[in-house]
Amino acid sequence: KVKSLSDLPGIGQSILNKLIEAGYSTLEAVAVASPQDLSVAAGIPQTTAQRIIKEAREALDIRFKTALEVKKERMNTKKITTSSQALDGLLGGGIETRTMTEFFGEFGSGKTQLCHQLSVNVQLPPEKGGLNGKAVYIDTEGTFRWERIEAMAKAVGLDPDTAMNNIYYMRAINSDHQMAIVEDLQELITKEPAIKLVIVDSVTSHFRAEYPGRENLAVRQQKLNKHLHQLVRLAEMYDIATIITNQVMARPDMFYGDPTVAVGGHTLYHVPGIRIQIKKSRGNKRIARVVDAPHLPEGEVVFAITEEGIRD
Ligand code: ADP
Ligand code: MG
Repeated sequence: KVKSLSDLPGIGQSILNKLIEAGYSTLEAVAVASPQDLSVAAGIPQTTAQRIIKEAREALDIRFKTALEVKKERMNTKKITTSSQALDGLLGGGIETRTMTEFFGEFGSGKTQLCHQLSVNVQLPPEKGGLNGKAVYIDTEGTFRWERIEAMAKAVGLDPDTAMNNIYYMRAINSDHQMAIVEDLQELITKEPAIKLVIVDSVTSHFRAEYPGRENLAVRQQKLNKHLHQLVRLAEMYDIATIITNQVMARPDMFYGDPTVAVGGHTLYHVPGIRIQIKKSRGNKRIARVVDAPHLPEGEVVFAITEEGIRD
């Protein structure tokens, strides 16, 4: 199966290098290029460009599908419970595979607690809302706590050590490292098909710190965009759930963009997925709201963060 540019038949190292040098480093980039542009940029004959584009499209399954095919694909998505019935209800059953889910909200809203809970819950059997799966936890802020995994695992009836053993943890030290970890994930997922959940908590903090201000906005967006699309693609290709978190100030319209620019409420680009806004409420209560999900009803629910984890 074709999973990256280098797997395409007839792409040798020299063409591959030319493509990458010209900025066509992913299957997606090639699939949506015009033969002429690709030919010029990579210095390859137009017929070769045409063939490579066609193969990239086939590899990504970019073609007309019938609505029935779309339905069947979507019916295959599976759900992971959040341990809150209210939140599951809002999400139509839980966090979906084949989808990227974003938790966004201010500091202390519970994004990291949700990530911990889901990396435990993915391990549950299907009748308890899990996928008998394993999780990958990419931590950019150093806020992962095994103690929370232990407590949450006990509370849902899993052996804590087994649960911890089923979570692959990596601390990402900067944005390049973070991107590289995701780029290399295919390898781990191929070796360990039980992985059904990939978390990046938080997806934005390194990028914000390393590319501050307006003057760095373009390059930051470009890198983040690539990173996010890789996560979406992992989800679709391996039928896994990806979760990203994004710390934002109280302004709901300020995503990924530069807070000093986004005042008009422009989202700078759109990455497919489900976005869940979390707001603090009284005490341990939190309010969750789904934003821009075409297939989910609008509405808010309340959940709680307890010692045992996420609950109603
Ligand atoms: P975010 O990632 O959105 O900044 P967190 O997920 O770290 O926020 O949530 C932090 C909150 O989770 C704390 O304010 C606290 O209310 C709650 N919390 C963390 N640990 C526990 C615990 N052991 N028992 C109960 N609540 C906890
Ligand atoms: Mg956090």
